[in-house]
Amino acid sequence: MANSNILMTYVQCNELTPINASLEVLSKAVELGKENGLEVVVLLIGKFDETTEKTCRDYGAAKIIEIEQETYNIQSYGEILVQLTEKYAPMAILSGATPEGKEIMAYASSKLDTAAITNVSEIRLQDGLEFTITLYGGAVLRDIVVNSEKTKFVVFNSGACKKLLAPVETAEIVKENFADAAKDLRTIIKESVTEIAESVNLEEAEIIVACGRGMATEEGMKLVKDLAELLGGVIGATRPVTESGLVARTQQVGQSGKIVSPKLYIGCGVSGAVQHVSGILGSDYIVAINKDEDAPIFDVADIGIVGDGMSILPMLMEEIKKAKA
Ligand SMILES: Cc1cc2nc3c(=O)[nH]c(=O)nc-3n(C[C@H](O)[C@H](O)[C@H](O)COP(=O)(O)OP(=O)(O)OC[C@H]3O[C@@H](n4cnc5c(N)ncnc54)[C@H](O)[C@@H]3O)c2cc1C
Repeated sequence: MANSNILMTYVQCNELTPINASLEVLSKAVELGKENGLEVVVLLIGKFDETTEKTCRDYGAAKIIEIEQETYNIQSYGEILVQLTEKYAPMAILSGATPEGKEIMAYASSKLDTAAITNVSEIRLQDGLEFTITLYGGAVLRDIVVNSEKTKFVVFNSGACKKLLAPVETAEIVKENFADAAKDLRTIIKESVTEIAESVNLEEAEIIVACGRGMATEEGMKLVKDLAELLGGVIGATRPVTESGLVARTQQVGQSGKIVSPKLYIGCGVSGAVQHVSGILGSDYIVAINKDEDAPIFDVADIGIVGDGMSILPMLMEEIKKAKA
């Protein structure tokens, strides 16, 4: 039975660096904690050091529970969440919607026979925790409460929360050791191979220039790539473009691709189908270039440019170069 006022946030790291999706969720937890007098606790599982702790403190972590693990494994990480829940009975454990976050939250919630709440875009505390979840790729928002006193496992959509600096001088560090969590593993990951394109991580990118079918020629792609490079950004694409093989599948944005939250998203020749748009709504600023003035992407764009991307992109790059000079 979860009766504590503890709100835990699972912070996933890339090497030793907390990923943006986790820091966004941590910021939301810290905000909710401040408003409601909750104790926010960061969970670091795997490998970390003082730089990892410092980043967590920068985003408001005053208490960090650390559990060292050699390698990632859904079963051992999931078991750790189970044992942490049994020991601390937090009201909820929050995570970003990364593949790792999603699978270990599902593992732990099913093992504990409690609720996993996914596709979360907002969390509130009224009489109990309340959530807004997105359905049909973001077309429908639904408010839900879960009638259970047990710990809730909550998975936030990428970009649903904003990273907010809230520096804390020192944090209480608690080292836990759940050695038996890594026993009798049913699967062992022998090797992970990262696709080269994945080194350009869309979910972490601050600027994304996306190529839609309207620019999906070799010439169009070159312009999109050049613009991305000029802005220090990363290439994204719609599904037809990744399916055509012009851009790696890892760069697909949308419902069946990545949910992104850059500072700037520029869609070039992207129509704005709901399955794509649901992946970009967390962007701070959306620019759309499309030759059809009725293209749905303009409904969500902060700036819309109606015209042929093949002539607009060169002009845009010229102006950016001048401004940079
Ligand atoms: C279950 C499901 C999941 C899906 N998941 C995804 C997903 O994750 N991501 C995704 O992107 N899609 C997804 N889709 C596909 C989605 O429905 C759309 O088909 C797709 O997003 C359209 O891609 P597009 O905008 O590149 O192409 P189009 O819809 O063909 O649009 C091309 C646009 O380019 C414009 N244009 C043409 N030439 C130019 C030019 N020279 N200059 C400027 N503009 C030009 C046109 O006016 C048009 O608006 C999914 C579909 C389904 C059914």
